[in-house]
Amino acid sequence: MTAMTKEEERELAKRLVAEIGRMAEGADHKLRFMEVCGTHTVAIFRAGLRQMLPENVELVSGPGCPVCVTPDDYMDKAIAYAKRSDTIITTFGDMLKVPGSKSSLMEAKAEGADIRIVYSPLDSIQVAKDNPEKKVIFLAVGFETTAPTAAATVLAAKQQGIVNLYMLSAQKLVPPALRALLDDPDVRVDGFILPGHVSVITGTEVFQFLTEEYHMPGVVTGFEPLQILRSLYRLMKQVTEGAARIENEYGSVVHAGGSPAAKHATDLVYEPADAAWRGIGAIPLSGLRMREAFKDYDIERLLPLDVPMGKNKPGCRCGEVLRGIVTPKECPLFGKACVPTHAIGPCMVSVEGVCAAWYKYGQGR
Ligand code: SF4
Repeated sequence: MTAMTKEEERELAKRLVAEIGRMAEGADHKLRFMEVCGTHTVAIFRAGLRQMLPENVELVSGPGCPVCVTPDDYMDKAIAYAKRSDTIITTFGDMLKVPGSKSSLMEAKAEGADIRIVYSPLDSIQVAKDNPEKKVIFLAVGFETTAPTAAATVLAAKQQGIVNLYMLSAQKLVPPALRALLDDPDVRVDGFILPGHVSVITGTEVFQFLTEEYHMPGVVTGFEPLQILRSLYRLMKQVTEGAARIENEYGSVVHAGGSPAAKHATDLVYEPADAAWRGIGAIPLSGLRMREAFKDYDIERLLPLDVPMGKNKPGCRCGEVLRGIVTPKECPLFGKACVPTHAIGPCMVSVEGVCAAWYKYGQGR
């Protein structure tokens, strides 16, 4: 198939927006579609899609940014481990500024903690080899997308006989979070823009419960503006027809069964467990815990810490933002006390955070 010219893309985008508008005319309420992926949030804002849609079609962001849904107590634990003289923390860079209840990893680093930025969990293996006298702890935060690489790191460490590499795990699973949202009476949504990267791993079948149990449409979506508009068109069409199907607008890379190899790696190392999500609370079987066979790589089993459950910062409405109940603009701190250079809550810290996207792209509509 020949690629479209920019002009053809613009024409198609206009036609899709017009069709969405035409279908929305008959709606008896404001239609709300939720994306549950931080990369979608950024793509939507960058392309200005919110402003292109009719007044009665609204895009809201859900709990799709892994840093944002990680509660304070996880950060408090990470900081406590970092402050020990016998540890090295390895982490993705976006975790450094995330506030815990009192401080951040950035502050711990400034005070002398050995915290190193890595681009893959696998980089932690070399750090562990180079520092045999230290406990090297990787902060394993992410969704189904990153869990296979964290699992591969543990498997490689075991195979190479590395005994000083550990995970502080806060891996999370998207489908149970969607279920929790739909069970929440405060959350109102008419369809989901389903996450593309996560679906590459999980496949589309894991989302069937949305239609079967909640009569909720969902479209697995890529990250180009046209793919997102096409997904919105498909969601609108389903809503107009009174239908609820899981459709796939990212078929070039997403298949019904996902990636068997990636799922196998994750399953070898991890098992589902209850997990706490910022703003949502504990969700049954929404996280991943290391299996008994890999307990020697779990820092929380080796050196358990008694850290109280985290609470939102006073005034921060990140928890409601992550459920699409309020927009960042409804937070009194947005753009005043809370800006990217001085973030109060994690939704402003991460580049994929909803508050950060609203701030960077002129606050949307
Ligand atoms: Fe929290 Fe800042 Fe977002 Fe307000 S603007 S909800 S304080 S992260």
